[in-house]
Amino acid sequence: MSTLLEVKDLKKHFPVKGDSLFTKEMKTVKAVDGVSFTVNKGETLGLVGESGCGKSTTGRTILKLVEPTSGEIYFRGENITSFQGEKMRKLRKEMQIIFQDPYASLNPRKTIEQIITEPMKIFNIPKRDRNKKLNRLLDVVGLSSYHKVRYPHEFSGGQRQRIGIARALALEPELVICDEPVSALDVSIQAQVVNLMEDLQEEFNLTYIFIAHDLSVVHHISDRVAVMYLGQIVETGQVDELYKNPKHPYTQALLSAIPEADPTIQKERIVVKGDLPSPSNPPQGCKFHTRCPYAEEICRTVNPALKQVSTGGQQAACHFVKEVVEEY
Ligand code: SF4
Ligand code: MG
Repeated sequence: MSTLLEVKDLKKHFPVKGDSLFTKEMKTVKAVDGVSFTVNKGETLGLVGESGCGKSTTGRTILKLVEPTSGEIYFRGENITSFQGEKMRKLRKEMQIIFQDPYASLNPRKTIEQIITEPMKIFNIPKRDRNKKLNRLLDVVGLSSYHKVRYPHEFSGGQRQRIGIARALALEPELVICDEPVSALDVSIQAQVVNLMEDLQEEFNLTYIFIAHDLSVVHHISDRVAVMYLGQIVETGQVDELYKNPKHPYTQALLSAIPEADPTIQKERIVVKGDLPSPSNPPQGCKFHTRCPYAEEICRTVNPALKQVSTGGQQAACHFVKEVVEEY
């Protein structure tokens, strides 16, 4: 399997005003604070964590919708970190985004035809081809061509997200960053949209980064998962291994909160204490120590690095998880 995207030690720090009303002190929010991962062609990487953990900012930084503070981004082996202007514009064709709120991301004054063909116009695709593509896209996302002349408000939430997906696919991208694409939808509609995205992945050979705050949503669609907490990845691995045998206390807690479909299975709920600390004032040491049920003295001072914790490539950042060294 070939690597399509590689992110190395990515950081995005924002300056924000401090809490004091009386001083002009500025603080820094370390929204993304040293994130590294790869995404292989054709696979789905699920990126999960509570809101404010930096997963959306990670996605937007890859697309250069926000400029990274430091770190490197490689796409098809090419370092795109400092791409600007025309170079970046060309690359936009290959990398698209699907937003959480389909309503807010669709222009209410434009018809569905105008919305979906807009990216094609920007890239000078001839009108005949645009129409052909439009009809095909409507068809593959489960809408019909008579929807073309309608406006976003005439559609349900699920249909609007189908329109957002069709627009994202208009330029035949390789990578699609899906930023909480089903979080705003009714639970009954979520599975339909996730299934549609899986079908489209196969049909168009797409690679996804699927961002969600809910581990149960990414389970079905992801090949691998990365769990983020306060701007850092705390655990990553193949989806089945990670869900069956989570090693990091934060992942364990998130998974224990998912209701079990089978009522005969008793599972123990691990409760994470307190609220997510402010990203402008994160704890020293392991950032999870203020909420971790297993925290010890060392956790308050030393931030644990990600280390290999299984022979299947699972990695976790916790002082008390045993490192597994592969033998060759
Ligand atoms: Fe908990 Fe310490 Fe592990 Fe952090 S390093 S997850 S605080 S046990
Ligand atoms: Mg978000």
